[in-house]
Amino acid sequence: MRAIIVDKPENQYQASVQLVEESQLPDGDVSVDVEWSTINYKDALAISGKAPVVRSFPMVPGIDFVGKVRESGDSRYKAGDYVVLNGWGVGEGHWGGYAQIARVKGDWLIPLPDGITPRYAMAIGTAGYTAMLCVMALEKHGIQPDDGEILITGATGGVGSVAIALLSKLGYSVTAVSGKSDAAEYLHQLGAKQILPRDEFSAPGKPLAKERWAGVIDVAGGNTLANACAQTKYGGAVAACGLAESMQLPATVAPFILRGVHLIGVDSVMCPREKRLAAWQRLATDLDMQLLDKMLTEIPLDEVIPNANALLVSKLKGRVVVKIAD
Ligand code: NDP
Repeated sequence: MRAIIVDKPENQYQASVQLVEESQLPDGDVSVDVEWSTINYKDALAISGKAPVVRSFPMVPGIDFVGKVRESGDSRYKAGDYVVLNGWGVGEGHWGGYAQIARVKGDWLIPLPDGITPRYAMAIGTAGYTAMLCVMALEKHGIQPDDGEILITGATGGVGSVAIALLSKLGYSVTAVSGKSDAAEYLHQLGAKQILPRDEFSAPGKPLAKERWAGVIDVAGGNTLANACAQTKYGGAVAACGLAESMQLPATVAPFILRGVHLIGVDSVMCPREKRLAAWQRLATDLDMQLLDKMLTEIPLDEVIPNANALLVSKLKGRVVVKIAD
């Protein structure tokens, strides 16, 4: 089968498309004929070696896949069932989705929800499912559409694009932050009401600023997250899931102790199964699938490596789906 292999011979990090034997697949109780995968920020890091995402070599990257069960030793799945995988360290420490067959633990899989095609499942991918987790975090905190505007950073990226589409369909008014000056039409089509330039957020700001946002979904970290917290209204909530700008958080406690702002961390990788199932069910009902067509670019396996490098320098918009099956 064809697969992308990341390896590190003589400390030289390299990624290439290779032919590998099914017998080389790692242990697992379910084998899946992979039909589609996608490129997330973490996949781009794994392919380029720009951050130590890959924990053992050789590795097949790809933190997401969808496909049909080929063989199953797990009573919840039988041959022919469509299943989705997101995270659990797959594509980092266990061979992942950039291969025609994957073998994984049944516990890591969820059934493909009704109403989502396999291709759309990967247009959503970890980025879209994380966006849903962020929306659920704001809802759990009680943020309602009438409470005011929601700020979304990294707006043209995978998490940002899906978050805009979800929140605007749910009736929220969305302000999108983007570093791309030509992205206005795209972001308005997804449902953003207002667009602000990234550099309004990326410089160090004051501990407290004018109260503007009822809620925030942040993929950037760094000064952007600190400024977003400083601008969040009394009692508001900030869902933080990313580090596209920085791993640092150069903030003060002022928004938390003087305005009761809540900072909520969102993780998709080890997220418990029940919450994943709930998030995917919500995606099936609350995401306008037509909008995914505006976000997605489809590529074959051979184009994953150059596209991963383009994603890292912020040259891509929306979501990339990778056709794996012949
Ligand atoms: P993408 O690469 O698709 O999007 C990231 C976006 O961030 C870019 O499109 C760009 O949007 C913006 N951006 C890029 N560089 C900077 C910068 N220096 N400062 C501020 N914004 C920047 O990635 P994803 O949407 O897939 O992921 C976004 C982040 O979320 C990543 O850090 C990723 O690791 C994290 N993540 C975390 C998950 C979790 O489980 N916690 C799951 C999924 C993702 P624009 O040009 O419009 O500003």
